Amino acid sequence: TSTSAKTLKIGLLPADGIGREVIPAAQRVLESLSSGPKFEFVHLDAGFEHFQKTGTALPQETIDHLKNECNGALFGAVSSPSHKVAGYSSPIVALRKHLDLYANVRPVSSVKSASTPNQKELDMLIIRENTECLYIKSERQEVDPKTGLKVAWADRKISEYASKRVGAMAFNMALTRESLRQQKPESERFWKHKPRVTIVHKSNVLSVTDGLWRETVRGVKEQNAEKYAGVDMEEQLVDSMVYRMFREPEAFDVVVAPNLYGDIISDGAAALVGSLGVVPSANVGDNFVMGEPVHGSAPDIAGKNIANPVAAIRSAALLLEHLGYTKEALQVYGAVDKVLSEATILTPDLGGKSTTSEVTEAVLKNL
Ligand code: ATP
Ligand code: MG
Repeated sequence: TSTSAKTLKIGLLPADGIGREVIPAAQRVLESLSSGPKFEFVHLDAGFEHFQKTGTALPQETIDHLKNECNGALFGAVSSPSHKVAGYSSPIVALRKHLDLYANVRPVSSVKSASTPNQKELDMLIIRENTECLYIKSERQEVDPKTGLKVAWADRKISEYASKRVGAMAFNMALTRESLRQQKPESERFWKHKPRVTIVHKSNVLSVTDGLWRETVRGVKEQNAEKYAGVDMEEQLVDSMVYRMFREPEAFDVVVAPNLYGDIISDGAAALVGSLGVVPSANVGDNFVMGEPVHGSAPDIAGKNIANPVAAIRSAALLLEHLGYTKEALQVYGAVDKVLSEATILTPDLGGKSTTSEVTEAVLKNL
């Protein structure tokens, strides 16, 4: 934890839809912190709407600013057209590549509240590999000469290099989470076992790709036996992972998964805590961090001041955490949890009647 008043330069990329409503909310929270770093915000262009105006979804200027000047960034959301648009590709996927943000880290936790007595309790961290798997987008279509009907193919890439570094991140974060838990009184600790990493795969079917993934992530612990002696390792086939996550989500601490499985599991986990609007993420590399709410641009509610700002605010906290400002991050998480547990000022996705601005004000008041 740093206490010096260092200045952090943070790139803000609200991009599309509700991104433009929730990123300013997160910015206000960062500006209102009473301790920790000073912030300088750089407003940067990106997104589908920017593409429609200018023909480019991710200006070179944005990439240069982030690479050369910023300590970190906050990204809102991009609209993804369901059909192929000539010349357009997702700026977030490109940014992950340019900045080598190889892991997407998603903490999902429930908040106890009188208004949701039946909610399952969980506090898990999903780490999603961010650079390969089916997301290399190598697809083709051909006509089967035998049937005369179309056949479509997609390549899936799993490398030892990418699996190893995201695996190491999972074990390291299991240790970090444990050291944070140790600072709390025992009665307030949700996870009471030894730290645990769950490796998700489907190597009973995909023995080559998922086999390499599983073997490589296992190898991280086996090759660093002493360093990770305090961390348990288990495996789950992706289908039984989903089943168990819905039945006993409290059984998971850190979960590490290839790109596509990680995407699916984390949307499922968001359903368990009530809304996509509360789940944050951080795109993490060795040299850069970019906070990003898990939800998309939500065109159905954009521009109405009813989007839940919690995911974006928690993403800002996650950004702080990864930049070394743990104390300030915990302040933000605490302020958000208080608003959620009081359950009087909530946006409609959580069953409330309040606006984006009102929820943001409530968080600021609790800071
Ligand atoms: P995209 O293509 O950008 O992902 P989408 O239509 O898939 O857009 P999502 O943003 O993924 O929309 O949201 C899925 C559903 O969850 C939508 O009904 C949306 O309104 C709701 N939702 C997502 N984020 C929030 C939020 N922050 N607050 C309230 N509701 C949200
Ligand atoms: Mg979506």
